[in-house]
Amino acid sequence: MTELAVTDTKADAPKVPTLPDAQTVTAVKHWTDTLFSFRVTRPASLRFRSGEFVMIGLMGDPDPKTGKQKPLLRAYSIASPSWDEELEFYSIKVQDGPLTSRLQHIQPGDQVILRPKPVGTLVHDALLPGKRCWFFATGTGIAPFASLIRDPETYELYDRIILTHTCREVKDLEYGRQLVDSLRSDEMMRELLGDGLDKLVYYPTTTREQSPKMGRVTDLLRSGELFRDLGIDDFGPEHDRAMVCGSMGLNVEIKEILESHGLREGANSEPLEYVVEKAFVG
Ligand SMILES: Cc1cc2nc3c(=O)[nH]c(=O)nc-3n(C[C@H](O)[C@H](O)[C@H](O)COP(=O)(O)OP(=O)(O)OC[C@H]3O[C@@H](n4cnc5c(N)ncnc54)[C@H](O)[C@@H]3O)c2cc1C
Repeated sequence: MTELAVTDTKADAPKVPTLPDAQTVTAVKHWTDTLFSFRVTRPASLRFRSGEFVMIGLMGDPDPKTGKQKPLLRAYSIASPSWDEELEFYSIKVQDGPLTSRLQHIQPGDQVILRPKPVGTLVHDALLPGKRCWFFATGTGIAPFASLIRDPETYELYDRIILTHTCREVKDLEYGRQLVDSLRSDEMMRELLGDGLDKLVYYPTTTREQSPKMGRVTDLLRSGELFRDLGIDDFGPEHDRAMVCGSMGLNVEIKEILESHGLREGANSEPLEYVVEKAFVG
């Protein structure tokens, strides 16, 4: 990790940290007591593919011995599409989390560190052409799909996009629900979503709080309920492609299910039928 450069023009002058790769926060929205989203300025040189992630963070506390500060960085999916002038992120608030215990307090005008090296497997290039693309998300795992469902290329590549989002409580679904609503009412996006706006199917489920569709997406897949709900009886490697972003446990389970239907895991270097990324480590 690089050490922070500290500007120190005079020996007795206050040390003003110069944030490396600093970007300015332009907007913050708190969705629940554990979830928030924010937007930052985009470095002019930053190019990324919708679905990728970058390292972002804040300066860590000064080392008690040396007084030096180091950046405290974490992986974050870019939730905005590649054409957007700004960058959007959707974040958890972990109360004792080294980064998010502080990041949750950012305000417009504050600076965050953003390392402009986007990477990731949840990109169209990592999948072979297909007809339907499934985005399976839990919790903040919806972030890369918030990027992809706003990218016109997604609708050019597939006849149908199915976004499933599973959270414990109804309020945890709100970021995704509002995003899908905003796309359906956006004039430019409406053209891409087709006459019945049915090119993008949104399938939210909850595991704890009562809602119209309850259950873990893995159970709904195994029982076939998800396919019956959507009128799909031919799920398989010929037409279906999938991207998965959730906890380690969810990813492992969905992988098993997809493989049992004949889909194989792809990568940037070898596009196949599905790709997976962890929504967090732990
Ligand atoms: C490829 C990748 C992409 C990621 N994208 C995002 C993103 O878009 N938004 C986001 O909020 N986080 C994302 N994360 C997680 C993120 O890197 C941090 O872990 C998170 O910001 C918490 O940081 P922290 O320092 O506060 O706590 P950490 O020390 O990093 O985490 C503490 C504990 O909190 C839990 N935790 C961490 N992140 C999450 C989460 N997102 N959802 C539920 N539980 C969590 C885990 O149990 C973890 O052990 C991503 C992680 C990876 C590997």
